[in-house]
Order: sequence, then C-alpha cells, then structure tokens
Amino acid sequence: MGGTFDPIHHGHLVAASEVADRFGLDEVIFVPTGQPWQKADEPVSSAEDRYLMTVIATASNPRFQVSRVDIDRGGPTYTVDTLRDLHAEYGPKVQLFFITGADALERILSWKEVDRMFELAHFIGVTRPGFELSDKHLPADTVSLVQVPAMAISSTDCRARVSRGEPVWYLVPDGVVQYIAKRRLYQR
Ligand code: ATP
Ligand code: MG
Repeated sequence: MGGTFDPIHHGHLVAASEVADRFGLDEVIFVPTGQPWQKADEPVSSAEDRYLMTVIATASNPRFQVSRVDIDRGGPTYTVDTLRDLHAEYGPKVQLFFITGADALERILSWKEVDRMFELAHFIGVTRPGFELSDKHLPADTVSLVQVPAMAISSTDCRARVSRGEPVWYLVPDGVVQYIAKRRLYQR
C-alpha cells in the first residue's frame, strides 16, 4: 500500500487490514512515498517523519511492514518503480497486490507506465467515503474492488485539525498523535 502517509491514519490501517483478511495476504507492506509527484505544489512533511509515523502506526501488527524503497530511491515516486524494487527484493515467486483507495483509482490511468504497472501487481481498489469506486474505465481483470468499513478520515483533514489546535485522537493511532506533538508537525 503506497501513500504519502502525512500522517498515516485509521482509514489506511482499516483498508489494509480488511484487504489482508479478504485476500489472505501474508503481509501488507506500507510504502511511504519519496516526493509524491501528484503533490508537487503542496508542502509535504519530511520523508523521515512520514516513515517514522508509519512505523509507529504499524509496529504492533506482525503482518504489517514498512518499506523504505521509495524514500531511498529519491526523486518523485512512481508506483511502477516501487513494484519493480519490491519484486527485486522479494523475488519472482512472490505475488504482489497494490491497495489503493477509490480516489487514487479514478486517476490511475495517468500513472507512469501503467501497462507495466498492471503486469507487476494485481490492483485492489477500496471504498472511500466521498468517492465512487469503479473499474469501468480500467482494463478487464487488472483490478478487484473491495468494500471496507467507511472511515471518513483524510490526512489533509488531520493536518488542518492540528493546525487549528483541534484533536486528532482516535483518527490516527495514539503513538502518531504523540509523535506529531513531539515534532510539532502541521503547526502554522
Ligand atoms: P491526503 O489528504 O494528504 O491526500 P490521504 O488521506 O488521501 O492524504 P494518502 O497518503 O494520500 O492519504 O493515501 C494513501 C492511500 O490510501 C491512497 O490509495 C488513498 O486512496 C487511500 N486512503 C486514504 N484514506 C483512506 C480512507 N479513509 N479510506 C480508504 N482509503 C483511503
Ligand atoms: Mg490522498
């Protein structure tokens, strides 16, 4: 599951847990982006802060891992490169799935080397409040659609709440609330 994770929140974690259960996945690897190319005009927290929040949020789940491939590669992150690197690391026998929310799935055909991307992994689109989940625009058999419990949470809203001095308790894991405060993230 790729994402900016700025910060990681319970919408991400519920989606990952639900898909892992439904598809019998051995592991879910959370991959924080290097520079998110779709957010080039927006300020994004440092890769290390986003990586550490992702580690904190997933630490207690033995099936959840965090990968640094996109952060360590540097430059803008393209999912086709993520999948190539994960295949190189895990070997050809491992089958990869890429979990993505309905909002990202809408735009997926604009992603770099989309045909190659679909060869490298099976894509799983999950429901997200406010977006319509559809595979009508996508080639047959490339994507599965999964309904997950509706979590109307976004990182954008979490950042806005912190900047206004409002709580993010229970929207993000406790350790992430504490890390945001410790590092003074998202304050104006
Ligand atoms: P931002 O508001 O900064 O874009 P975000 O909440 O959309 O943050 P991302 O890191 O952009 O989080 O998302 C990573 C992946 O998780 C994307 O595929 C996105 O669609 C999915 N996702 C994010 N929030 C949810 C949610 N509440 N329910 C389901 N999927 C989600
Ligand atoms: Mg997003």
